[in-house]
Amino acid sequence: MRRKIVVGNWKMNNTIAESEALATELLAVLGENFSGCDVGIAPTYVALEATGRIVEGSDIQLVAQNCHYENDGAFTGEVSARMLLAAGCSAVIIGHSERRQYFGETNVTVNLRVKKALSEGLNVILCVGETLAERESGVTDAVISSQVREGLAGISDISSIVVAYEPVWAIGTGKTASSAQAEEVHLHIRTLIAELYGDKPAGVLRIQYGGSVKPSNAAELFSMPNIDGGLIGGASLNATDFAAIVKAASA
Ligand code: PEP
Repeated sequence: MRRKIVVGNWKMNNTIAESEALATELLAVLGENFSGCDVGIAPTYVALEATGRIVEGSDIQLVAQNCHYENDGAFTGEVSARMLLAAGCSAVIIGHSERRQYFGETNVTVNLRVKKALSEGLNVILCVGETLAERESGVTDAVISSQVREGLAGISDISSIVVAYEPVWAIGTGKTASSAQAEEVHLHIRTLIAELYGDKPAGVLRIQYGGSVKPSNAAELFSMPNIDGGLIGGASLNATDFAAIVKAASA
């Protein structure tokens, strides 16, 4: 039985003070309700340390939204994995579709970042997902396969990796993949992982779904056999909604 994992991706929202307030509220609302699943929050870089202080000692993990593949150097605007570790992060989201869409991330740069994060001891949430045009032209499986294969190229141990399937057409649009649509792709990912790494690693790999997850649809999505939790954008900015999603995953 895989333990579910729910992570809130706060994206470019909240000042430091607002992040602290949201984390404080979240702790209060969650109470003891989330012992049944892993929970993380991913504030902006500038708010990581302060938010980390709020959740320190709780079961909420501090997650970053990206990292660079070098340790230090002339990479203006970037933050390295070792810096995230020092700021208190235990995990990092890599290859989010917004990074791929707006900031030129490719499977090659995603792979470099994944390798660096793992080598520094961070857990990785590797995001994959097809666009609407790709889905409509029937290449969803092929797109997901190359994102997974190339994102994990050269990585022999996937025990610190979670894959997040996030159809681009469902992110921030209010359109959720149906539980059957999501399950089909999750099963495809698990089958591919079994081919690449064997049945045992494939059986324990957690695959989150992301794309307009809300309190009203979380339980159904999480009831599918290959959906092991969620990566939550918009709904993670509201403590009550996020807590309801965590509760659905803990059931
Ligand atoms: C995301 O960006 O990871 C995401 C799933 O966003 P939303 O929940 O807002 O669709």
